[in-house]
Amino acid sequence: MLVNKMNIILIGIQGSGKGTQAKLLNEKYGWEHITTGDLFRRNIEAATELGLAAKKFIDKGELVPDKYVFLIVKDALDKAVDGFILDGFPRNMEQVRFLQENFSIQRVVLLELPDNKAVERLMARRNCAVCKRDYNILFKKPQKEGVCDVCGGELVIRDDDTEEAIRKRIEKFHNETNRVIEYYAEKGLLSTVNADQPVESIHNEIITKLGVE
Ligand SMILES: [Zn+2]
Repeated sequence: MLVNKMNIILIGIQGSGKGTQAKLLNEKYGWEHITTGDLFRRNIEAATELGLAAKKFIDKGELVPDKYVFLIVKDALDKAVDGFILDGFPRNMEQVRFLQENFSIQRVVLLELPDNKAVERLMARRNCAVCKRDYNILFKKPQKEGVCDVCGGELVIRDDDTEEAIRKRIEKFHNETNRVIEYYAEKGLLSTVNADQPVESIHNEIITKLGVE
């Protein structure tokens, strides 16, 4: 077992850099980064019983019922013996209760970013129309404006990155997670980290709040 074994939940609005931070923690401490999206993808690719059950709902454009989500999450968390970083789960109080009953969570880290900053960052995203590589005109600029460094393709804004669509996603995020955040705050498990700073500073603030070295 690792010295710094921890089970944590990472909560953050789109644009907060949650994926980047999860990756840094995974590299440093070996905690497995677990997102429900990846779990479904992997189970469907491997055609597991759970993957096939979930696929029926996904193919119909329906939400996968909690029953299957729980089984798929439980299976992954049971295997994450060196600790895990749970990302995108729990989203509601049913899911919180499921976690409470089955796993011990040491910390819940909330990456806090004002909505307007999130909008600004997401509206700065660009994708190469040809090779699909990601850019961001604030943080990850191409060498030549509007042109992909790798293939010379045109950089475009994704259809779902209009301000209106972004604000809708942010609203949905708040509606879904507010109660979950409140719950963990009441339990004394919540640490809030300022996500409006450079990647390395956010990382340092997280590990300080987790109390790991
Ligand atoms: Zn390209």
